[in-house]
Amino acid sequence: MIESMRLIIDTHVHVFPDPLRKLAPGLASGSLAQTRKFLRLWRRPVSRTLHKLQTLMRYFPSPALRALDEVGGFAPLPGLLIESTVADLIEALGEAKTNRAVIMAQPPLCPNELVLDVCAEFPQLIPAVNLAPGTRDPKRTLQKYCRLGAKFLKIHPAADGRGVDYAQYLTTIKAACDLGLPIVVHTGSLNSHLLYKDPAQGNAERFKKWFRDFPATFVLAHMNMHSPNAAMDLAEEFSNVLLETSWQPAEVIGEAVRRIGAERVIFGSDWPIVGDNIRVGIERVDEAVSGGMISDEQAQMILGGNAARIFGIKEVAENAT
Ligand SMILES: [Zn+2]
Repeated sequence: MIESMRLIIDTHVHVFPDPLRKLAPGLASGSLAQTRKFLRLWRRPVSRTLHKLQTLMRYFPSPALRALDEVGGFAPLPGLLIESTVADLIEALGEAKTNRAVIMAQPPLCPNELVLDVCAEFPQLIPAVNLAPGTRDPKRTLQKYCRLGAKFLKIHPAADGRGVDYAQYLTTIKAACDLGLPIVVHTGSLNSHLLYKDPAQGNAERFKKWFRDFPATFVLAHMNMHSPNAAMDLAEEFSNVLLETSWQPAEVIGEAVRRIGAERVIFGSDWPIVGDNIRVGIERVDEAVSGGMISDEQAQMILGGNAARIFGIKEVAENAT
């Protein structure tokens, strides 16, 4: 397949309010942009190594893995200073020839209103809203966000420190079902107490009753991270479960397609965590093709076709016209 013909939709990215500008308000924006560009180039080999290491960490004995997870929680932080804003995202999408991206809100760090505003301004961006614990009238709030353009509901129990029976989650999922809104759930219990209030709440197996009790489309973000087989077991059992590819190597993407079919595997990168995520993520899908694990057509479904179906995106690839 000719690369420029592809429709690519990254279903999992984050943006943050400009942290470097806050740290160095005296710098003129021109020189700031130059500095960032230079640092990003300089960082590329480091982030590539970290991405590779991340896929190998799951094979470490569990005490070592737990310790590494905690340290690894710090790895994204310096990078966010040089690659994390909306402008950085637009640039990264262009560099990786990616047509669209879904931005995950994460209040209070990244408020819903910010994500909705940014997506209203940039039509290639798609908003995913996330109701913080203690949101007043979650049903109405979700309806309001939908009127403002929300296309996805994100639930992050590990960051919230809440369990599956938390009443607000159940109300919100029910409201999402009524609105026809797909739901993305953070999965994977990366043992980082810096990033998550209760990492264990990310274990995909805990969400089984949601998949059974609600007729929603559930996307398991990160395919349960270090334990993707558990995510694949769930997707085999429940046809309303999709698996998202971030932090997974080519072999796991290939295995997911073999077990549940390409229709329910979708591309996500978790940009900008660690750096260069979109390109690394696309390369892994391509590697699954060159390794004979999936076909070109299956790669196209994973990279864009399935997300286009979920989000009702009818456009053909911009690059193809
Ligand atoms: Zn994420």
